[in-house]
Amino acid sequence: MDAYAWMIRFSELVTADAERLTRLDSAIGDGDHGSNLDRGLRAAAEALSKDLPPGKVLITAGRTLVSKTGGASGPLYGTALRRAGKSLGDAAEVGAAELGAALRAALEGVQELGKASEGDKTMVDALAPAVAAFEASAGEGLPAAARAALDAAEKGAEATVPLQARKGRASYLGPRSVGHLDPGAASTVLLFRALADVTD
Ligand code: ADP
Ligand code: MG
Ligand code: MG
Repeated sequence: MDAYAWMIRFSELVTADAERLTRLDSAIGDGDHGSNLDRGLRAAAEALSKDLPPGKVLITAGRTLVSKTGGASGPLYGTALRRAGKSLGDAAEVGAAELGAALRAALEGVQELGKASEGDKTMVDALAPAVAAFEASAGEGLPAAARAALDAAEKGAEATVPLQARKGRASYLGPRSVGHLDPGAASTVLLFRALADVTD
């Protein structure tokens, strides 16, 4: 797995979709999710180098996100990537099994920090099913596992629409948060689309 290509692709996809992410966040938040993440990922892309081992790539991207991305999503994505990178260690080659364990560590990091469970209408609603689907398909190899994860992330994100937010800024709206796609779940889909793109 080319972690450098993954992060660069994630950054490109977020740049391309920044307006849509910000629009989603305008409906149930403060309208900065696209710009927050775009800023952080551009800085991360600049901080990365192709020569780093995959684990170091993810740790560097995560650190940069924590320091350069505003809002709740910076520390959450930053923690996810740092934990994933730590899980990979110094390995030069990363296969589906190793990446599955790293994604599981990322999810645990997000949940430790944000205290959100599935159904709270957050990025966890896309991330948790994506990680489970990746693990379930890891035996079929990286491209198949990445496609399964993307599919599960898309379904999980879509399923946030009818939910009432129980975590993050959107929870302040109470029942008025119902009927909108969660922006962090939408950007999590892009993380897995990027992975599917670079493993295909
Ligand atoms: P902010 O809300 O601080 O402006 P962003 O707009 O960048 O931050 O990110 C909002 C997204 O962060 C939400 O759509 C949600 O997916 C995610 N989020 C917020 N709080 C939590 C949490 N406690 N756990 C998991 N994800 C969260
Ligand atoms: Mg916001
Ligand atoms: Mg904000």
